[in-house]
Amino acid sequence: MTSISTSVSGTQRDRDHRTEITAAVLRTLGEPLALEQAFIDVPLVGEVRIRTLAVGLCHSDLHYLEGGLAIETPAVLGHEVVGEVEQVGPDCRSLQLGDRVIASITPSCGQCPQCVSGKATRCLRTAEMRIRERPKLLDSNGQPINLLGSIGAFAEAFIVPESATVPVPDTLDSASACLLGCCVATGFGAVVHGAEVSALDTVAVLGCGGVGIAAIQAARIAGARRVIAIDLHAEKLDRARKFGATDTLLSTSELVAEVDALCPGGVDKSFEAVGSPTTAGLAFDILAPGGTATILGLQAAGKRIEIDAEKLIEGDRKIAGAYMGANQLSRDMLAFADHFERGTLNLVDMVTSHWSFPDINDGFAAMRSPDSIRAVVTF
Ligand SMILES: [Zn+2]
Ligand SMILES: [Zn+2]
Repeated sequence: MTSISTSVSGTQRDRDHRTEITAAVLRTLGEPLALEQAFIDVPLVGEVRIRTLAVGLCHSDLHYLEGGLAIETPAVLGHEVVGEVEQVGPDCRSLQLGDRVIASITPSCGQCPQCVSGKATRCLRTAEMRIRERPKLLDSNGQPINLLGSIGAFAEAFIVPESATVPVPDTLDSASACLLGCCVATGFGAVVHGAEVSALDTVAVLGCGGVGIAAIQAARIAGARRVIAIDLHAEKLDRARKFGATDTLLSTSELVAEVDALCPGGVDKSFEAVGSPTTAGLAFDILAPGGTATILGLQAAGKRIEIDAEKLIEGDRKIAGAYMGANQLSRDMLAFADHFERGTLNLVDMVTSHWSFPDINDGFAAMRSPDSIRAVVTF
């Protein structure tokens, strides 16, 4: 830090080195995002500033916007993002200006016991790593703006630690690449890192949005012998077949019996990609003895999941989390890029609509339709 002249207030000095950008700010829960002028800081030690290229509208963003998940306002949401490095802070060693990267919503220290055992999404210092000496973003009144996941990608630029970025190969277009940071990291990761699906397994996926479709594709790539897609909407099930589902079921009160008819006894691995305690309980109910239900959809703080005690105890079933797919993004990126190039990982058709930044609220309206997997905003 340089010395401060006593005649200049800290706030004024803080404003001086900031850059004006447009950000889509959540002021009031449930209301459309407001496109506002905001002021972004320079990157500090170990940070990079990234010019946003493409950002996916994730159902978590929608839940924060509508108040189902709690966030302090004013806030900038947006976390499934790819951008181009436009400014590099001191002590950054790996990135150059112009590098295209995705941001990880789970920054990891690389040094704690979880990180050194390869479990970066469980880093013990994630909260600590999000602490910063001054706000990344201020509004036009000089008030700090809260940033979802300390990213805030519904803006022309954002700041993250260099260690929370992963370079994107040139073979991936930006609209496809942004999906890798959240829905693909989560759905694909849960299948390969979390539940470790193999060719011997029968799989069911509840919820055929972005995370669910990524899980279906990963289960197909991993060679699962049966992949059952389950959703409330028939149009989503038709589409799930194109991504690799071998069977589809509408979610009804007969679901457990219908799964049993396809896979006697239940499935070996189930994945919940909806974010409700009811579907989480269902994911457990459709398991075969010895099976594992992996719960992926974010749920509000304090929510409880009810499971059948007898099925748990007498059938050795498990219920598990795999936060953000227990991803190892730097390594996973190589696999994503290879599968994308070979055509085995279809990202292009996961983007069901494209929007320009000023139309971001229309994108949110579109993502509520059952036709939508991912709406992507490009800058
Ligand atoms: Zn997300
Ligand atoms: Zn760590």
